[in-house]
Amino acid sequence: MEDRFGHRISYLRVSVTDRCNERCVYCMPQELQEWLPRAEILRYEEIARLVRVATTLGVTKLRVTGGEPLTRSNVLELFRLLAEIPALRDLGVSTNGSLLPRIVDVAGRRMTMAAALRHYGVRTVNISLDTLDAAQYTAITGRDFLAQTLAGLDAARAAGFESIKLNCVLMRGRNEDQLPALIHYAGEHGYLLRFIELMPVSTTDVLTEENFLPIAEARRLIERSTGPLTARPDFKTNGPALYFQLPNSEQLIGFIGAMTDLHFCESCNKLRLTCEGKLRPCLGSYLEFDIREPLRAGASDEVLAQFFRDVVDRKPQQHDFRENYQPNRKMVAIGG
Ligand code: SAM
Ligand code: SF4
Repeated sequence: MEDRFGHRISYLRVSVTDRCNERCVYCMPQELQEWLPRAEILRYEEIARLVRVATTLGVTKLRVTGGEPLTRSNVLELFRLLAEIPALRDLGVSTNGSLLPRIVDVAGRRMTMAAALRHYGVRTVNISLDTLDAAQYTAITGRDFLAQTLAGLDAARAAGFESIKLNCVLMRGRNEDQLPALIHYAGEHGYLLRFIELMPVSTTDVLTEENFLPIAEARRLIERSTGPLTARPDFKTNGPALYFQLPNSEQLIGFIGAMTDLHFCESCNKLRLTCEGKLRPCLGSYLEFDIREPLRAGASDEVLAQFFRDVVDRKPQQHDFRENYQPNRKMVAIGG
């Protein structure tokens, strides 16, 4: 699938739940939240059917996300179904990591959740880690889960994923003192660390002039302790991150600048499916289209395929975060 601006769509991000066991300040409101009723959430068979249709249109890469995808009950059943779709060459998961060490049963064998995901063909995991300081972790996520998240990272390493990425959201006044420690930790364990600019996709107080830390400034802060970074434009993962190499080291770190990188959208290859069955052509736009309705009304694969094509046709040239803040649209409900 290709849109009007030449973006080739090969990557689908599927949010499987709007629920989460953490309460990150930038992602969801701190007060008690209303979850979507169960009947509104796509069933695993429904998700797998839509993914199968998407693969007939050139989608080869899928990332399961949320909310926290590993909180959804029996989530391994979804991975079992996805493993049966041969055209899906690259399967990844985004998680806060806290449930990766949990022991689960797969066909009579006990293993960690991380090992079970690997067992079902998950190749990459992206794990959120904004700080290595326990008190700060609790202040940011609302939960005292640093130790179990680090145990989750150990479980992921033991499970043998092809790549483990760490995602750190930059927040002035909260975690800017942690950047060198996170780099050191990632380097020590072989994780690819990326720093992400705060995006305005949650409650109104998320992004202010005071707490926004642009990637260029984060880079300067980092260079104060590491020495000069070298740009590595030749190194690309599947997303918009810009990579740099540390001096006297092989280690790379990435910067994802949704707000200040003006080339951010140029190579966009993504489409998103929310947990309640909305197809979103762009994270940073209000546009979304309900594919659950035709799906549940008995639409054929061809009709669903046309639905995908029509949504891709509506993909904007670039996101409009910079002009159009979305104070009421919660990241946790869209799927990051
Ligand atoms: N629960 C999983 C996790 O935390 O990785 C998956 C879903 S989460 C919404 C996906 C990613 O979005 C995380 O790396 C998180 O840090 C990021 N994220 C959430 N809200 C954000 C915001 N307002 N700005 C930038 N990144 C955000
Ligand atoms: Fe949950 Fe992930 Fe959002 Fe944090 S970023 S509240 S872990 S969904």
